[in-house]
Amino acid sequence: MRHFLFSVCLTLLPLAAAAQTAPAGYPPKPAPPVQAAPKQGTIPQAAAQLSQGAVQAPQKAAPSQKLASPKLVEPRLNVARSGVAASPRVALTFDACMGQADERILSTLVRERIPATIFVTARWLKKNPQAIQVFLQNLDLFDIENHGQNHIPAVDVPTLIYGIAAAGSPEAVHQEVAGGASAMQAAGFAAPRWFRGSTAKYDASAIRQIRDMGYRIAGYSLNGDDGSLLGAGAAERKISAAKDGDVVIAHINQPTHAAGEGVARALLALKKRGVEFVRLSDVEGLGNDDTTQ
Ligand SMILES: [Zn+2]
Repeated sequence: MRHFLFSVCLTLLPLAAAAQTAPAGYPPKPAPPVQAAPKQGTIPQAAAQLSQGAVQAPQKAAPSQKLASPKLVEPRLNVARSGVAASPRVALTFDACMGQADERILSTLVRERIPATIFVTARWLKKNPQAIQVFLQNLDLFDIENHGQNHIPAVDVPTLIYGIAAAGSPEAVHQEVAGGASAMQAAGFAAPRWFRGSTAKYDASAIRQIRDMGYRIAGYSLNGDDGSLLGAGAAERKISAAKDGDVVIAHINQPTHAAGEGVARALLALKKRGVEFVRLSDVEGLGNDDTTQ
């Protein structure tokens, strides 16, 4: 029962939060009124992000602020295929949005020597000095990249995404990206080359701006854990089915969610299948929506 109630609360939270933070008349929906058509693998991260406190961020839109309806994209990213059936190439990417480190996943990556790309926020870095040490001691495995400063969606007009206030201006997008990079470098990591924003959604002008800052933008092709809300079995099945050229997205910051257990099991299954694991820094990533070229 406790689990059931917990799930219901997570599910209803976005609606409640949107209703509280949106101006009168804003439709009580978790997504903005006008959006790109949903694509396969769209991330329903709202509940996870709200449960992590994203709506409490100081950058949230003031109730009186007029919200725009930008056209948003959720870019796809693939890596070049190996073309070898016995060893399909897969890029594992994990978001560390905020909260803790999921030791089930992290220890499996280290123990099994499985390379991965980790997108970290400044918020997460502040709370996880031990995981930072693990990354720094295993830089042959981990490519650490930029997930922003405060986990604010990189959209340059005021809008809500899953009930979360976007950065809202080019200046705020710049701060989100640059602030994430400074925190990473202060923690001892190299300057990031890839950026993935909170919610993985962007508008076209924010994509141009982030590209002009020297980044490629990391979409994905396989949503492995649905914002860490999948059950363990479902996450395991999805990730275990990764194909040649897939970029998998999952979360490494929710140690109390069942999904992580399935993610860790899937890592073993992929390794057993003979998968060639690559990091985004190792290969040419091919993204749409002008995210990499
Ligand atoms: Zn995130």
